[in-house]
Parts: sequence; C-alpha cells; structure tokens
Amino acid sequence: MTKEGSNHFFFGGVDVVELVESYGTPLYVTDENKLRANFRGYKEAFETADTDIYYAVKANGNLTLLKILANEDAGADVFSAGELELAKTAGIPTEKILFNGNSKSEEDLRDAVESDVKVSVDSLDELKALSAVATEERKEVEIAIRVNPDVSPRVHPKIATGLKESKFGIPFYAVIPVCEEAKKLPNIALSGLHCHIGSQILDLSVFSEATEKMMLLVGKLHENGIELEFVDLGGGLGIGYTQEEKEIAPTPKELAEAILPVFEKKMHDFGINLKLVLEPGRSIVGATTILLSRVNAVKRAHKNFVAIDAGFNLLIRPVMYDAYHEVLVANKINERDSELYTVVGPICESGDVIAKDRMLPEVERGDLVAILDAGAYGFSMSSQYNGRPRCAEVLVCDGQVDLIRSRESIEDLIRNQKIPARFI
Ligand SMILES: *Cc1c(COP(=O)(O)O)cnc(C)c1O
Repeated sequence: MTKEGSNHFFFGGVDVVELVESYGTPLYVTDENKLRANFRGYKEAFETADTDIYYAVKANGNLTLLKILANEDAGADVFSAGELELAKTAGIPTEKILFNGNSKSEEDLRDAVESDVKVSVDSLDELKALSAVATEERKEVEIAIRVNPDVSPRVHPKIATGLKESKFGIPFYAVIPVCEEAKKLPNIALSGLHCHIGSQILDLSVFSEATEKMMLLVGKLHENGIELEFVDLGGGLGIGYTQEEKEIAPTPKELAEAILPVFEKKMHDFGINLKLVLEPGRSIVGATTILLSRVNAVKRAHKNFVAIDAGFNLLIRPVMYDAYHEVLVANKINERDSELYTVVGPICESGDVIAKDRMLPEVERGDLVAILDAGAYGFSMSSQYNGRPRCAEVLVCDGQVDLIRSRESIEDLIRNQKIPARFI
C-alpha cells in the first residue's frame, strides 16, 4: 500500500520510513485490522458448524496480539508452560486452551491440571503420568488423544508433522486401545481426538483425508461405546509467500469446504454431534506483520549483496525452511526494479541469507527494507545469537502506532550470566 505522491511504503495507514525514525530498526510491525480480519475470516467460514478456533500461540506469542485474538473470541493451542501463561495472561478462557506437546514434564502436567485446561496426550506413558498427577491434585482433567494420522501434507519435511515417521502423536493403529485405557484411568475425562498434519499446507485434499481418518476413529470409538465431545483437526493452512502461492493459497472458506462435508456426513452417519476445533497459527498472523530493516552496506561481489541489520536471529524461516519472503525497498516504493540483489543479514554465518536474487530498485546504504509476511514464526523463533538483542515490535491501526514490545538492550544479554567469584 502506498500514499499518492509518496515514495514510501505505508502499512496499517502508517508511513514506515517515519515509523523507524521513532522506533529504530530492526522493527516488527503488525497491522491490527489485518489480524482481526484474518481471525474473523475463520469464524465466518466455519459459522455453520459448532467450531472453536484455538489460535496456535507458538506462531506469534506477543501478548497484545493474543489480547486482540482473545477479544475476537479465540481459544489457544499452547505447547509449554510459558505459552500457557501467555494465553492466560491475555485473558483466553482456560476451557478454550489445549495444552499440546510430545514431551511434557511433571511440572507441565501439573500446571495444566491446576490451570483447568485440556491436555492433548501424546503417548500412553504421558497418559499414565497425567492420571497420576490429576489424582494427586484431586481434579479431573479433560483430554484429547493426539493421533498420528499418517497423512502426507506434501510440504517441506521439517514442517510435516503427521507422517507415520513423525515424533508426534499415537500411531493410528494404537489409538483405540489408548482411548480404552484412558477410559479406565482415574481422573481422566477423554473428550476429544486431535491431529495436526503439518504447516504451510496449500493442498486442501490432505485436510479432507485427515478428516476422513479422524472420523473413522470416531466411528470405531462410537461402536465401542466411547463418545467424544470434540475433534481437533489442528492448524496448518498455508499462506501465499510468493506471488505464485498468493494466487493459489486456500482461504479458510475453502478449508471449511474441504473439512465440513466429510465431518458432517460422518456425524450424521453415526448419529452424533461433535464440536470441531481448529488450531490455525500461520494463517492468522503470517500476513499481518512486516519486519523493517536498515541497509548497512551494498557490496558488488560475486553477487550484489545488500547487508541489512536483521538476519536469522530475527527471522529464521529462510535459513531453516528455505522459505521465501517478499522484500521491498520501503523508501523507494515507486522506483523501478533495476538489478538482482541478494539480501543478507548481519550474522556471522554464510547461511544468513534473507532473500536470494531479487529484482529491486537501486539499493544504497541507509535504505529501508521491508520483509513481508513475517508475522508467523518470526519474532517467536528469534534469538540473541551473535550478541544481538531482540528487536522491538509495534502495532499499527488506521495510522495509530503503539509499542507492544521494547527493544532488548545489551544489558539483557548479560542479565542472567553469573561469573564465579574466583574469576572476579
Ligand atoms: C504448530 C501447530 C499448529 C499451528 O500450525 P500453523 O501451520 O501455524 O497453522 C497447530 N497445532 C499444533 C499442534 C501445532 O503444533
């Protein structure tokens, strides 16, 4: 989005060049209206069914974003005691929080039981431990069984989570016996089946396939006299990062068309009614946020390198998943592309490449780069590697700006380090 006559990129009604004059770089910027619209897109797409949307906190755990989503009626999918605390602090009701994870400690289980949230159980081992904790706490804990549905989502192998080789979930063939065990264990209330098949999925047929498989299990349990309250089909809907993907990326409405007919037909066949739960992360926050970064140097070498002040310390997706993010020169938004550039970060690793071989307007030191669609698995995967404090985050809304996370300082790098007395 641009304003007439300006050569600057506008985001959420704000001139980003002015924005960094106040807040510095690197800077994550989230558009509140986009966030609300994305969440509402899901609600509307699934409004004909009894559906709860549990936002996957790991995609972006900023408290203000979580508060906005809580205000839109979101539940939360959390993967640790920390994410649970974030969701509770944001005001997400505990009955709409599902504690996930394949490796929960005793404290995690206790925290979940004490907080009265639901737990997605990933193994028989964990099920028994949870029953023991709940019994000690004299509470009944509501659980879902995490199913490994053995569905191939046809995505990058590092983000496929529902293959039979995956570390997540109970193997398909073992689900019924584990459910039967759950029914027998004290202080356990089995109420759902859960799966999550992967991330950045653009091919909707895999969601239909997963729904079929999950409903097959629901049917078998029903035959065995075990009735459930919900089926959670996880998250994973992809978004358009490249231009090509933008044209084919499915909408929540299309996701609903892939899931609901299967889900509803099976419920009808079995004569039962279940709540549907979804756990989108990326498709809620991905496109809401940009990362702004200053150009420190342009170097003409084997390639034209643009060295910016944000690297994989702040956005690891390009390095970890070969992910593509569109890059703009935010202070030259109307200038014609002139050359191929490779945009690299400041980290002391040759793999620290944010964007390869992109046509950009002529880039100079001091220019401002905007990295688009950085809202999911951006800040939440950031680190202090190479002695770099994490950056600030701001929220923009119709031209209004609010700081939602302060920039870390060098002091933050040192804060928890202890030097034994004999070295002082
Ligand atoms: C990561 C994750 C999600 C969210 O996935 P997206 O691809 O961001 O939608 C949902 N559920 C579980 C269990 C997850 O691990």
